[in-house]
Amino acid sequence: MKLLFVGVQGSGKGTQAKIVSEKLGIPHISTGDLLRGAFGELKNEIDSYIAVGKLVPDELMLRVLQDRLSLNDCVGGFILDGYPRNMAQAKKLDEIISIDKVIEIVISDEEALVRAIYRVTCSKCGEGYNTKTNPPKRAGVCDKCNGVLTKRADDNEQAMLKRIGIYHKETEPILLHYKSVKVNGEQKIDRVTEDILRALEI
Ligand SMILES: [Zn+2]
Repeated sequence: MKLLFVGVQGSGKGTQAKIVSEKLGIPHISTGDLLRGAFGELKNEIDSYIAVGKLVPDELMLRVLQDRLSLNDCVGGFILDGYPRNMAQAKKLDEIISIDKVIEIVISDEEALVRAIYRVTCSKCGEGYNTKTNPPKRAGVCDKCNGVLTKRADDNEQAMLKRIGIYHKETEPILLHYKSVKVNGEQKIDRVTEDILRALEI
């Protein structure tokens, strides 16, 4: 089953993608992790954009993705998280792979704002936490890698409002492009997982 998880930042899509991937025994492919985990030639190319604060171009992202999707563990399916984020990217992705189903994890704009305000991110591995709803075991320290948790400069109200606007305008249209199902993301984590599994009819 080739799946795509979509949601505004803070919807919990990364967390859910991880849980569901373990339950279904298919890999969770986060494009953020892919970019951070690249090596060799590809890493140099990616870093040349990231180092100057530019977005990695679609063409490069697609190459990274195509490499990853060609590995053996993707034969039985995968959960893609973080790409595509707009129609142009969705159409390009169609050229390399066909997505079977899209799960949209829905939270209100107000909830997304509140979650962004309490969000902290690991400076080493990129894992996200919420000091209110999903705190790390030790304050300020990543559970996964002991990295330092920092508040991103763009996790403020104004920057988040902008991201929410972009999500509605650019990302939501891709839901019509695919066979997509909405799941209420404003529930306890295990309830969201249950709803996702039901939506996948498993
Ligand atoms: Zn970490």
